[in-house]
Amino acid sequence: MVTTEVFENLKSLQEILVQKYELEGKKNDAPKQLSNQEDLLAKTQKEFIELKSNYDATEERVSQLKTQLEEAVQSREEGEKGVANSTTHREYEALEKQITEAKLLEEQVRKDLQKEEKDLAELNERLKNTEESIKFNESELNSSRESLNKELSSYDNKLAKLKVEEDKVTKNINDIYSSEENAELKAQEILFKFQRIIQRNSEGIVSVRNGVCSGCHMILPANFANEVREGEDINFCPYCSRILYYEEVNEDQQENYFDIGAAGSLAGLDDDDEDESEYGDDEEEDIRSEFDDEDEDLDEDSEDSDDEDDSDDSDEDEDEE
Ligand SMILES: [Zn+2]
Repeated sequence: MVTTEVFENLKSLQEILVQKYELEGKKNDAPKQLSNQEDLLAKTQKEFIELKSNYDATEERVSQLKTQLEEAVQSREEGEKGVANSTTHREYEALEKQITEAKLLEEQVRKDLQKEEKDLAELNERLKNTEESIKFNESELNSSRESLNKELSSYDNKLAKLKVEEDKVTKNINDIYSSEENAELKAQEILFKFQRIIQRNSEGIVSVRNGVCSGCHMILPANFANEVREGEDINFCPYCSRILYYEEVNEDQQENYFDIGAAGSLAGLDDDDEDESEYGDDEEEDIRSEFDDEDEDLDEDSEDSDDEDDSDDSDEDEDEE
């Protein structure tokens, strides 16, 4: 039966795709690691620009004050020289006034200048510190970029290897269908659906046990479950869209199909079954309610459980068989 072969290839493909999507996710998220460092650098650069413009304005004021000071000193000195040579009382008084005003101005300008020069020195210090911070942040960011690039290229290497495996398995599936009509289309459709399911659910191919889809726990219509059992074609679960394959269940496991968690892996199934094997027919209600409780936190599952309650009728039908 070709479907068995397809199932085997799909299971291999599933392993590959799960890894592939995980790596692609990591690859997309990786550059976000840098955003804090990039923000910090941008902030420091902005701070530097603001400080610099503040520094330039202060420097300009210092230079103006120095000119003012020179003028005041000159005016005072001229006054003092003039006083010695003054010939009239009126001339003397005017010169005295000039000296007093020049002294007052000189005093005020010296004070202002002292303050501005102090500010300028402080700003200069802060500029130097900020400049160092920028250099530091830049080199940190560069080394982070380097390690990010290494990380990204390791993802790319792994992805390239997975691509080879994926192509191989995909070719197998195409080959299996090659004898059929519309072969390529059919294989493409299956692969396309399969990839989409795995992107959403990480499990794209699940077993049917006792007529229940182990992906979503929904009870499948009896005719449909039989089709899956016959395995003539690829069947998708009508509820969760996963590809279904039939799995025979031993007599003593008949009641335990509830344990298969939607989020659980196929590998964990056997252990789970053993743990629950103490439950008998009488306790089925308990098992059911426990199942619902356990899965309350999972949105997807609680939705499924609701659906499951709606289909209790078919559940009973199933049990009578
Ligand atoms: Zn399903």
